[in-house]
Amino acid sequence: MKLILLGAPGAGKGTQAEKIVEKFGIPAISTGNIIRAALKEGTDMGLKAKSYMDAGQLVPDEVVIGIIKDRLKEKDCENGFILDGFPRTIPQAQALENMGIVIDKVLDIEVSDEAITKRLSGRRVCSKCANSYHIDYKKPAVDGICDACGGELIQRKDDAPETVQARLAEYHQLTEPLKDFYGKLGKLVVVEGQEEVADTTALVFAALED
Ligand code: ADP
Ligand code: ZN
Repeated sequence: MKLILLGAPGAGKGTQAEKIVEKFGIPAISTGNIIRAALKEGTDMGLKAKSYMDAGQLVPDEVVIGIIKDRLKEKDCENGFILDGFPRTIPQAQALENMGIVIDKVLDIEVSDEAITKRLSGRRVCSKCANSYHIDYKKPAVDGICDACGGELIQRKDDAPETVQARLAEYHQLTEPLKDFYGKLGKLVVVEGQEEVADTTALVFAALED
């Protein structure tokens, strides 16, 4: 099964990707997480991406396309994968096609800009393992500490309110046209993001069944 998760920043792609990983045993590939890991390690690619990311802009296509090309060659992708955060532009989608990759379904999680703004301002992420929490909706057992690894929870720089508005603008301008792109190919399934994670997951699983 080869899947793409589409949706605005903060629509819950990462959270739903985890559920799909658990149920179907295929890896989730998040370009955002790969870039943040590179940044932490201080690699050239990480440094190149940093200024874009911090400003809420998309990293140049050639950079993320290179990341995906390398990642999809790894053995764990043999039986399928979920792409979380790629493609985000039409040229990225075309690059996937040029790699000869045939996607089965594209799940689009729809959440209003207003709800996104609320969600991202309260999001906290683990500084060690990248698990994601929310100060109201998904609290860790101990304030400020990751349930999974004990790491410190921090706010992502690009979750600052001004940056969130820039990310939403990028999303509407560059990423949303992918709905039409995959709609025309008959691959798009739209899921309305719910307030409760489990409710969205139920819709996602139902969409994957038929
Ligand atoms: P979110 O979905 O919450 O925006 P991500 O972790 O997926 O978070 O992405 C964070 C940032 O990483 C983006 O704002 C962008 O700068 C960069 N990025 C991730 N994936 C891509 C991509 N496919 N194309 C361009 N930039 C990307
Ligand atoms: Zn952690």
